[in-house]
Amino acid sequence: MSGTTEKRIGASELLRQRREQMFPKLSAAQIARLEAHGQRIEIRPGEVLAEPGSRQLKAYVVLSGSIEILLPDEGEGQLLYMLTAGDFSGEMSTLRGSSAQTTLRVRRPGNAIALDSGQIRDVIQTDAELSELFMRAFILRRVALIQSNSGEITLLGSRHSADSLRLREFLTRNGQPYHDVEIETDPDTAALFERFHLTAADMPVVVCRAAQMFRNPSNHDLAECLGLNPQVDDSRVYDLLIVGAGPAGLAAAVYGASEGLNVRVVETVAPGGQAGTSSKIENYLGFPTGISGRALAGRALSQAQKFGAALSVAADAVDLRCSQRPYSIQLADGKVLRGRSVLIASGAQYRTLQVENLSRFLGAGVYYAATALEQKLCQGEDIAIIGGGNSAGQASVYLARGCRRVHLLVRGKGLAESMSNYLIRRIQDTPNIQLHTQTQITQVEGSDRLERMSWLCSADGKREEHAIGHMFVMTGAAPNTPWLKGCVVRTGPDLDAQALSAARWPLERAPHSMETSLPGVFAAGDVRAQSVKRVASAVGEGSICVQFVHRVLQETANPASNAA
Ligand SMILES: Cc1cc2nc3c(=O)[nH]c(=O)nc-3n(C[C@H](O)[C@H](O)[C@H](O)COP(=O)(O)OP(=O)(O)OC[C@H]3O[C@@H](n4cnc5c(N)ncnc54)[C@H](O)[C@@H]3O)c2cc1C
Repeated sequence: MSGTTEKRIGASELLRQRREQMFPKLSAAQIARLEAHGQRIEIRPGEVLAEPGSRQLKAYVVLSGSIEILLPDEGEGQLLYMLTAGDFSGEMSTLRGSSAQTTLRVRRPGNAIALDSGQIRDVIQTDAELSELFMRAFILRRVALIQSNSGEITLLGSRHSADSLRLREFLTRNGQPYHDVEIETDPDTAALFERFHLTAADMPVVVCRAAQMFRNPSNHDLAECLGLNPQVDDSRVYDLLIVGAGPAGLAAAVYGASEGLNVRVVETVAPGGQAGTSSKIENYLGFPTGISGRALAGRALSQAQKFGAALSVAADAVDLRCSQRPYSIQLADGKVLRGRSVLIASGAQYRTLQVENLSRFLGAGVYYAATALEQKLCQGEDIAIIGGGNSAGQASVYLARGCRRVHLLVRGKGLAESMSNYLIRRIQDTPNIQLHTQTQITQVEGSDRLERMSWLCSADGKREEHAIGHMFVMTGAAPNTPWLKGCVVRTGPDLDAQALSAARWPLERAPHSMETSLPGVFAAGDVRAQSVKRVASAVGEGSICVQFVHRVLQETANPASNAA
């Protein structure tokens, strides 16, 4: 059985288990409320209302007749569901304004109410009952699409290639359904190579909608081809421009948009930030059984979109122009966005180890995240994890489930000072995790991928060499600030009178909490010096900033009030 068939069964299974939530029937009263927002239209047999790649900007409430939802497939497409009277179409891309994943084709004539994404958002924001119904249905339909592994996008890649892993990570973390062909193991490989005239040397390759083929595309090119980002007006001045969609940026987006601000978020990779790479977050309030970073990020993104925040991924901020207001941010593709206020939520990045040749194996045996993608790569093998903090602990426990042996290497004498107790106990209780204290990597070797590594224990001077092909580096993180090019220094309480005068702070008032030396430019989360490095604190800081953004916006509307 091919992977595609298995996944299709996964989607049907979800439909079978949760049909009533995925496709709830609207009551007459609910339809009447929706009609007040939308427009009644006639639907004719054969009419195509949306197809993969088209911007799915409308949802349809069927009044009479029927509409088929077809999954992309060879030929006609595969029927996922038939919408009849009382059903409605749409999924998360409708709300986001990104491109459609399915075909909507009228089967039997009748009438429907068409609602564009702005009208759906109005309904969701004002009608609690319909909000719950639509949001749940949209989220579950997106999950079904991901599980359908639809033929819309095919990624052909090697399990030993850094770019294949980058593209898998980009698609997966952005909730994009795709057909993953690992060329070493997938039975479809030969047929696909023949059909698209490819060889192993061309990898990785992404085929978009059987029409466009990209050899090793950048994340930006892939996002463009997929229509991942909403089409938004880049010339407007936003109330709040957020750089980074980790927990801090997403929290600010949710609170800002829900309080009526025009919010734009730009993100280099995918929503969730570091938290999005966590296998299970167990200390975030309200999730007693834990939640995976991806699930938390998906929920937060849906929430931000529900309130109308516009988020672009594969959008890398490369400069903050701070000499004039409104401030502007330049993106790597040359676009310039303007904002009356700015939140720097670009988080932190793992420090690399100073070991010769290490960078050669990045993505080909050396990893900075331990998600399901990396777990799949090292099934049944010995691995090494470097670091004594919570992320290293989490990764050890998570990866130990599928690996033969996990070598956990820490520089210190133990874990007590750097890791939470619950993780230390789990490590002690997991027989295939071997802790090596006072130990450091000395050498890594391999040809096109990591094959061997050596380490040295400073306590007894013992040197060991192991045939290990997968190493996870989790050794503390440094703030992601190089893109600011020195434009901003420190925040709130760290700004004493001397620092303020050096930065030529122009206002009578002192900076707000988390405001930088530039009025109206805030920083929240791990990007701040001495930050707490927790999901909860990043979320807290991101949401607190919004309160001060309102004050800054009032101030810019009435500049005389605060001039020094
Ligand atoms: C594996 C792992 C497990 C963890 N587990 C836990 C846990 O269990 N509990 C807990 O409380 N904390 C945990 N943490 C820590 C927690 O994830 C972080 O403290 C939190 O994510 C910080 O949020 P943030 O929004 O400040 O920054 P980040 O999460 O780092 O997000 C910053 C975002 O900004 C983006 N960005 C950076 N530069 C730019 C740019 N120039 N332009 C556009 N975008 C940019 C990045 O791509 C990133 O998505 C874990 C961290 C890791 C890595």
